[in-house]
Amino acid sequence: MERVFHELRSGPAGLDDRDAARRLRVQGPNALPARGGASWPRALGRQLVHPLALLLWAAAGLALVAGTPVLAAAVVVVVVLNAGLAFWQEQHAEHAVAALEAYLPVRTRVLRGGVAREIPASEVVTGDVVLLVEGAAVPADGRLVDGAVQVDLSALTGESVPVARRAGTHPPGPPLEAPDLVFRGTTCTAGAARAVVTGTGAHTEIGRIAALTGHVGHHESPLETQVRRVAWLIAAVAVGTGAAFLPIGLLAGLSFTAALVFAIGLLVANVPEGLLPTITLALAAGVRSLARRGAVVRRLSAVETLGSTTVICTDKTGTLTENRMHPQAVWTPAGGRGRPDQDADRVPVLARVAQRCSEADLPDPAVGPGSGDPTELALLALAAAAGLDTRAATRERDRRAVHPFDPVLTRMSTVDTTPAGTAVHTKGAVEAVLGRCTAVRRADGGEDPLDTDGRAAVLAATAELAGEGLRVLALAGRPASDADLTAAREDVESGLVLEGLVGLLDRPRASVAPAVARCHAAGITVHVVTGDHPVTAEAVARSVGIGAGGLRVVGGDVLASMRERELDELLAADGEIVFARVAPEQKLRIVEALVHVGEVVAVTGDGVNDAPALRRADIGVAMGASGTDVAREAATMVLTDDDFATIERAVAAGRRVYENVRKFVVYIFAHAVPEVVPFLLFALSGGAVPLGLTVLQILAIDLGTETLPALALGREPAEPGLMSRRPRPRTEGVIRARMLWRAWGVLGVTSAVLTTGAFLLVLLRAGWSPGAPTGPGAALHHAYLEATTATFVGIVACQIGTAFAARTEHASLRTVGLTSNPLLWWGIGFEVLVTAAVVYLPVAQRIVGTVALDAATVALLLVCAPVVWGVDELDRWRRRRAEPGQERRTP
Ligand code: ADP
Ligand code: MG
Repeated sequence: MERVFHELRSGPAGLDDRDAARRLRVQGPNALPARGGASWPRALGRQLVHPLALLLWAAAGLALVAGTPVLAAAVVVVVVLNAGLAFWQEQHAEHAVAALEAYLPVRTRVLRGGVAREIPASEVVTGDVVLLVEGAAVPADGRLVDGAVQVDLSALTGESVPVARRAGTHPPGPPLEAPDLVFRGTTCTAGAARAVVTGTGAHTEIGRIAALTGHVGHHESPLETQVRRVAWLIAAVAVGTGAAFLPIGLLAGLSFTAALVFAIGLLVANVPEGLLPTITLALAAGVRSLARRGAVVRRLSAVETLGSTTVICTDKTGTLTENRMHPQAVWTPAGGRGRPDQDADRVPVLARVAQRCSEADLPDPAVGPGSGDPTELALLALAAAAGLDTRAATRERDRRAVHPFDPVLTRMSTVDTTPAGTAVHTKGAVEAVLGRCTAVRRADGGEDPLDTDGRAAVLAATAELAGEGLRVLALAGRPASDADLTAAREDVESGLVLEGLVGLLDRPRASVAPAVARCHAAGITVHVVTGDHPVTAEAVARSVGIGAGGLRVVGGDVLASMRERELDELLAADGEIVFARVAPEQKLRIVEALVHVGEVVAVTGDGVNDAPALRRADIGVAMGASGTDVAREAATMVLTDDDFATIERAVAAGRRVYENVRKFVVYIFAHAVPEVVPFLLFALSGGAVPLGLTVLQILAIDLGTETLPALALGREPAEPGLMSRRPRPRTEGVIRARMLWRAWGVLGVTSAVLTTGAFLLVLLRAGWSPGAPTGPGAALHHAYLEATTATFVGIVACQIGTAFAARTEHASLRTVGLTSNPLLWWGIGFEVLVTAAVVYLPVAQRIVGTVALDAATVALLLVCAPVVWGVDELDRWRRRRAEPGQERRTP
């Protein structure tokens, strides 16, 4: 041991602050080397060679072979610009996820100059003495110098069974198997120990692994997988249409080259290469806005799962309540019920147990800010009010033995030296303590044996306090012997004398009741899973509106005796449930049963024992302020404010992001119809109606005018009514038949009718009749160019109308407001500028084949925008009327 300290120039009391600061400057922060910094050329390259891009390259190649270098160049521009945009979107998404770490600073306890201190894990240096406790993450590699812990090495070995590590021997062998070494990136699942840090940052085992594997890839979410499949389907359709056009175009009298060019045009126009990165970016934007509002989501894909949540299983303490407890009532066997501030005669006996049996620190200007369990802080406050010395140092000095709080036993005991001799002090849940008592305290300080009546009186008092929503703790004690210093827990916690009860008030958070109401409106069921007393839990649940449509209370013992089928039936029935006196392990069972009956489950947790349930749930929610590192690592989402209302907000955000993806899918799909119809008309008329749109015009739409409004739709604010609909079924795909109908059947067909009409109108106005020549040199050629330009501008105008229509799926545009998405206006401004440039700049005219349009024609075309929007608005209005409140449900 001394040798380790000597080598690291440290000691059992740790480093002093000056030395630590100096080492931090020399060694640098304890952080893993940043990943992926230099690999951006590769990331950009990837965008140029992904399968859809390869398809476009092939199209460009064909165009070159067909002798149309302008088209080939245009396609290459499409590929490059799209790759650039996709690259930018993905970088943005990655940064958004990387930035989340800043919201979850990892903190760790170290000894500095002999005093325990909490510091950011990034400031740990070699030679620091780290205090490891149950639930803590190991901040750096180190060697245990004192104590023993169980560690979960799965991050390093993949083996998730915890292994024991204790200070002492250090035989030679591979470091991962050394019995006294602990490693960064692993977690401590039980025990307590001190470790001296031997390596930080990149000089740790996991740092070496990170350097080897480099970039950790982004895992595709189910949504992205679905969209990728759809993108491929559409690409296949595009290739199919392109290939089909070739013979049709030839039959209609086109030259082979011209037919090929149009085939390529159709293909390029319809390949949805921008879809995936746009979705990734929409998810990332969702993650970022959630983080700012208290919910740090650790995977992009969680955003979409959140939106389909059907059941939330929540803790009570700290999540529904403020986690700030105040002693509100006291009860003693001799004196009965009283108030702690008024009935001073009843307090001292209780205060003496509260003073000793505790691990918390009250805030004290001389010592520092308080810390510890809110239950214990409240009890210490009671002791301090009774004038007792509640300093941690005094308590430590007098303590002979401790049996820490165990969430399964729901009690804690200490053996302490007191002025009246050594004594056992026990506190905990009433059932857990009462069962260990054989006597009750009399008013004169003596003892009465605990008989059936006495027991009933205690339970009646408990029920009364719990019914007011108070957390009730029983306090007990007895004189101790030397044997108690080493005896087993069972024996120490026996033959106790009950001193009395304390009722602690933990107010429900003001934000919770409205959030529960919103959950109910959204068809989400809220169950409470708590270790607290059933009556307390029920009172708190009711006070925030849980169980408004029926509430059942199920105790942990009843739960334990239930068969799987019975539990499934219980959970499948209507109404909400309070699971009380539940052991953390039982949470996993509840979650599994819920998943089994087909629910999408979000579950909260904060302790080491909650980790399995957090992993099993669709959305594991850990507490950022009060939870353990282990729970945070097992969770999908971490609440920085521990507030239930934040879960509801996250669900709403999840729904919003998912709906927005649908919005831009509708928008992007809609333009396919007006683009394809001119080709169909040309082919079906056997060439009598000339082609209404040139290939380069299609590219100009695809490229110049579409992307930014699509991105803007990804940022739409939530649509009214979003949280008064039932959750989306787990099996429902992102693209529904109704969406396709709306995109193609309503928006697409309307646009096609308008643009084709405009095209024909311009031609007819110039004296055209079907079959009249319109090629270069013909009298009608200029009119033909005007007509195609009109189609182009018409499609852009229709897309503007479509963008406004796509902003809502059910609601009217009036209810969301014209200006609530300023990004969309920027996108449309850009769209209009590009279109104007294409129509009026001579360079663009030469490339794209446009001619300037007169003001009257432009004005006519602009009307297309409100018409397309109006048709969809009417359609939505019709559906709202046909199915009023269709998706409402009261739980
Ligand atoms: P919750 O679900 O409310 O967080 P816990 O699992 O923390 O419940 O606590 C369960 C029960 O254990 C509490 O109702 C209380 O009676 C008892 N208890 C909680 N904290 C302590 C403690 N520090 N010491 C002794 N008993 C405790
Ligand atoms: Mg708790």
